[in-house]
Amino acid sequence: MGAKRKTMPSKTNILEYWNPILIKLGLETNYELSGKLDLCFTCPEIGTQRAHIKPVCQGGNNSIKNLHNLCCQCHKESEIYEGQMYWRWFKYKRLEEFDSNKFFKRMLNKHKIIYKNE
Ligand SMILES: [Zn+2]
Repeated sequence: MGAKRKTMPSKTNILEYWNPILIKLGLETNYELSGKLDLCFTCPEIGTQRAHIKPVCQGGNNSIKNLHNLCCQCHKESEIYEGQMYWRWFKYKRLEEFDSNKFFKRMLNKHKIIYKNE
């Protein structure tokens, strides 16, 4: 009692929290696939890290509202942005990555096994 836990929410919890919000923002997600494959929120990369939207060194905390699941590269890329700039980056990145079948092409190439398993 009293001691503050420093544990972070799980990646599944982060996805569950953000999924409906991203849909409302017009950034639809393939929720089931995202959960299964541990997909980056902004690109088709698999294997994510919990990334702080507002960095801890700037007062950001471990609350679910302040965490996104990003791949290593997107995590690095996002680190220079904060506040509105972060969200601009997020939206631009999403549009860029999910545009013109790039997403599906990359998915198919990377995860043949999953698609073969019918
Ligand atoms: Zn990514």
